[in-house]
Amino acid sequence: MASPAAIEVTEVSKTFPGKGRSPGWKAIAEATLTVDPGEFVCILGPSGCGKSTLLNILSGLDDQYDGHAAIHGHPVGDRQFGSPRVACVFQEPRLMPWRTVRANIEFALAASGFIEAQWRTRTDRVLNLVGLEDFADFYPLQLSGGMQQRASIARAFAIEPEVLLMDEPFSALDELTARRLRQQLLTIWSDFRPSVLFVTHNAFEATFLSDRILMMTKGPGGRFCDEINLNGLARPRTYEDVKVFEASRDVVARLISRIGQIDQDL
Ligand code: ADP
Ligand code: MG
Repeated sequence: MASPAAIEVTEVSKTFPGKGRSPGWKAIAEATLTVDPGEFVCILGPSGCGKSTLLNILSGLDDQYDGHAAIHGHPVGDRQFGSPRVACVFQEPRLMPWRTVRANIEFALAASGFIEAQWRTRTDRVLNLVGLEDFADFYPLQLSGGMQQRASIARAFAIEPEVLLMDEPFSALDELTARRLRQQLLTIWSDFRPSVLFVTHNAFEATFLSDRILMMTKGPGGRFCDEINLNGLARPRTYEDVKVFEASRDVVARLISRIGQIDQDL
């Protein structure tokens, strides 16, 4: 039997209930996608098209949906022994403010079954990766927003996830920090090869990072409308590579032709 896809979403629909007599809001309509093991896939679409709704379903935060969503063949939410390690990074850091950065990361390591003897070296390594080695003993609120986000990315990397779900993780950061973190993300991805599903409304970011871009239409009823394969774009990718810019321009053109009028923040 063929090994299961890393992520499989089959005809997933989600309607948020309306208030009183209002009919509710269909955020996603029959969305279907597959991410292969080790693949880096971006979902690109305008604000409000249902990207976060879909990621919340995949990360198990929302179990009120129709259709089928599975990670390595295990239905989402059905976490059993031997289930793949899944890490999530959201737009905001979501750290526990009463724990230090180190304790936040150790908490994730413990929850993922790593033995205590490994915690310190694993934590030090990922804090080094994101440039926070001197801030391990700080509390989140003692750090800037960008540093907190780097800590939450370090926490995700610490457990060496088989599947990494990222919802606009860099969009609240200044562009220079975002650039450095995109590059670090690609380095980590090529070292460990997790399967990544990365949500963004930034066409350049999607082009720079991914093997494949899935485009989503605007809601109501956001659905996938197009797919762009970027395997032809050589790796490692750099900001100096003119081919990345050209490819990103093509992605924007395709987006405009598919979605029509474009949102300002796209
Ligand atoms: P995106 O992440 O693509 O910007 P979202 O997935 O956050 O979009 O939202 C998709 C649509 O669903 C939006 O129109 C949003 O207003 C609506 N929505 C999101 N969460 C809720 C909720 N809890 N209740 C009602 N509507 C929601
Ligand atoms: Mg969102």
